[in-house]
Amino acid sequence: MYKLVCFDVDGTLVDNIAYSWELFHNAFEVDMTKRKAAKEKFYAGKITYSEWADHDIGMWLSKGVTRKDFEKAMEKGQIKLMDGALETIQELKSNGMKLAIISGTVSVILDYLLPDYKELFDDHYLSQLFFDEDGKFTKANVTEYDMAMKADALKLVAKKHNLKLSECVFIGDHHNDVMIAKEAGLSIAFDPKDEELKRVADVIIENKDLRQVLKHILPLHQ
Ligand SMILES: [Mg+2]
Repeated sequence: MYKLVCFDVDGTLVDNIAYSWELFHNAFEVDMTKRKAAKEKFYAGKITYSEWADHDIGMWLSKGVTRKDFEKAMEKGQIKLMDGALETIQELKSNGMKLAIISGTVSVILDYLLPDYKELFDDHYLSQLFFDEDGKFTKANVTEYDMAMKADALKLVAKKHNLKLSECVFIGDHHNDVMIAKEAGLSIAFDPKDEELKRVADVIIENKDLRQVLKHILPLHQ
């Protein structure tokens, strides 16, 4: 009955991370006051998501960071693929499921942990970071499909594959997943860190092994 499975990245496909932006802000020691002010402006509706992101990206650019600095931060944070992530992706694919990533994460996270994500996932909505030939961070193409807009990305992906929202599954862990979880035919709160997400989700999985989702999606696993 389900034909498409959408994944969040930070805290869902990737473990030991709540929000990738925070990991890098902390690693690059950006100005906490400026960072907090921009975040508050966004939540107060005074700036858009992309203005908030541009502000934060600007702080990384002014630090002159390189791909190596991003990698060091990820190493230090001991981020890793979620247990069972690869097996889950393969099992869903071999059962003919379309797969999508709808995330506010930044591309370096997946470049580092799942470099063939563009082949594994039919659709990927996330923020792309760019580096020059010396590895210096130069710019970002920030996704507009984070927070409430994640739900819009789900609608776009469903439409592209000619599917109803009732045929789409979403798996996520945090507050930015609430709106998209409300829209998906099956929403799974995986290792959830947010009470509202727990309230709106159809299924809650507390055990941090992604294979736990399979029995809810594939009839043969039930
Ligand atoms: Mg997340």
